[in-house]
Amino acid sequence: MVPGARLIILGKQGAGKGTQCVRLSRHYVVPHISTGDMFRAAVKSRSELGAKAKEYMDTGELVPDEVVMGLVAERLGLDDTKARGFVLDGFPRTVHQAKGLAELLAPDEIDLVVNLEVPTEVVLRRLAGRRVCVDCGANYSVDSPPRLNWTCDICGGEVVQRQDDTEAAIRRRLDLYERETRPLVDWYAERDLLAEVEGVGDPDEITGGLVRVVDQRREHSLGRRV
Ligand code: ADP
Ligand code: ZN
Repeated sequence: MVPGARLIILGKQGAGKGTQCVRLSRHYVVPHISTGDMFRAAVKSRSELGAKAKEYMDTGELVPDEVVMGLVAERLGLDDTKARGFVLDGFPRTVHQAKGLAELLAPDEIDLVVNLEVPTEVVLRRLAGRRVCVDCGANYSVDSPPRLNWTCDICGGEVVQRQDDTEAAIRRRLDLYERETRPLVDWYAERDLLAEVEGVGDPDEITGGLVRVVDQRREHSLGRRV
């Protein structure tokens, strides 16, 4: 089996992180950990955490760091991530969260952070047309809907527009991305942990590009170890 990996994928809303992270998680056989998906599941199950997160999510605000850190600490404490690693999607989103993550992982480190870069005009178009399955989170769009009646091809769930894919919430999320998350690109570059992959084009080729930078990094660090 391929060795595990500890990966972070950065990218704006609509950059395709969700789709690519699912593929990477299959490729490296590591869990896909999406804080957005975890919060949406919490909202759906009407848990206390869900109630806390919902008011922020619906308007496109960030959930407070201490809530996010608690959730992630719990998830990273499980055996699967300890044994093989993870693909983190939507976390960290602030420098404060990145520092918290480094503390959680110490003495281990992440292998690589990949910035999936897509121009804002492209993500705006993608987000306006995006539709998701309420049950499994699979992504569709008005241009490539499920086969039947807005019913998920994978699980039969209902396919809808996300509650935070309104114009106002999208604008707010992109704004927060530039202000809070973009600085992480430099933060990880300074630590020599960053790679960039172009996120526009054929999804299979983008996956290929991601796997290439991760494998390069692994060869490089294996070389350093021997
Ligand atoms: P998007 O990247 O399109 O905003 P996500 O599914 O990643 O979508 O996240 C949805 C919402 O969940 C965010 O707008 C935010 O309110 C909350 N959220 C997810 N991850 C984090 C995080 N790491 N820090 C703070 N809030 C988060
Ligand atoms: Zn589904």
